[in-house]
Amino acid sequence: MDISKYRVPFKKNLSLSDYPTDSNGKFKTREDAEKLLEKNIKRMAELQDKLYAHDKFALLLIFQAMDAAGKDGAIKNVMSGLNPQGTQVYSFKQPSAEELDHDFLWRINKSLPERGRIGIFNRSHYEEILVVRVHNYLQPEKLPDYVMNSKNIWKDRYRQFRDYERYLYENGVWTVKFFLHISKDEQKKRFMKRIEDPAKNWKFSSSDLKEREHWDEYQKVYAEALTETSTKFAPWYVIPSDKKWFGRTLISEIITKTLEKMDPVYPQMSEDKLKNLQLYKEQLETES
Ligand code: ATP
Ligand code: MG
Repeated sequence: MDISKYRVPFKKNLSLSDYPTDSNGKFKTREDAEKLLEKNIKRMAELQDKLYAHDKFALLLIFQAMDAAGKDGAIKNVMSGLNPQGTQVYSFKQPSAEELDHDFLWRINKSLPERGRIGIFNRSHYEEILVVRVHNYLQPEKLPDYVMNSKNIWKDRYRQFRDYERYLYENGVWTVKFFLHISKDEQKKRFMKRIEDPAKNWKFSSSDLKEREHWDEYQKVYAEALTETSTKFAPWYVIPSDKKWFGRTLISEIITKTLEKMDPVYPQMSEDKLKNLQLYKEQLETES
C-alpha cells in the first residue's frame, strides 16, 4: 500500500478538500483491507517487542480530528495487538489551572513515551494552534506582551513545534501524526447515531454541535497547521476516515512501516554473557 500519497508535503499550499475522506476503491473488498490490517497488527507486535528490548527509541503517535472522526476507535484498534506494558496513552483535554501555570509543552513533555515504548496522544499540543486559534483561547495562557503582540503568534508556534519534534527525533523519539479526515455529512450521520442509539448517547455532547458550526474555520486552520509542521522528523498523514475500516488499515500500515524504518533490534549479548548463559543452562540441567 502506497502511504506516501497520504503524507502532507511540507509548506505547500494545501486545502483539505484536496484529500479524500473516503477509501476511493483502494481495496477490492473490505475483507482485503481487514486481512492487511490483521497482518500489520501481528507485525507491529513483533516490532514492538524488539523496540522494548532495544530500549533506545520511542515512538509517539499523535491523533487529531474533528469530533466523531473515530480517534478513540482507531486507537483501540491499533493497540489491540500490542503489549500493554510497552504502550502509554494520554488524552489531552482543556488545560487545568496547574497546566496553565506552565508553558504549554509542560504537560506534553511529562507524557512522552519512555525509551522502548509506544506513546499515543489522543489530541496533543496541536490543540494550541487549532481550538485555541478558532476560539481565541490565548488569554488564559497568561503569556507576556511580547508574545501576545507578536506579528504572527501561530507561525511562531509552528516553528516551536517543528523545533520540538526535531529535538525529540534527535533524542530517539520519533513522532508520527495522524489527522482523521471525515466529511461534514459523515459527521452529521455519526452525531445522529449517537443521539438515536441509547448505547451511544453518552458520547454525544452539545458542545460537539457548537464546534460543528466552526467546521470551515477548523478545516482551514488544520490545513495550515498540517502543512507547516509536516517535517521529515515528524510527518503528518491525512487519513480518509469516512470508512473506519479503511482508516484503520492505513494507520496500521504507516505505523508498521515507521517501525520497520526505525529497525529496532534485540540487544547483542557479549561473548562473556553467552558463555554464562551456557553455564546456567548446564546448572539447570544437572539440578537434582
Ligand atoms: P470524545 O471523542 O470522546 O468526545 P474528545 O477528545 O473530544 O473525546 P472531550 O473531553 O470531548 O474529548 O474534549 C476535550 C476538549 O478539550 C476538546 O474540545 C479539545 O479541543 C479541548 N482541548 C484540548 N486541549 C486543549 C487546549 N490546549 N486548549 C483548549 N482546549 C483544549
Ligand atoms: Mg469531544
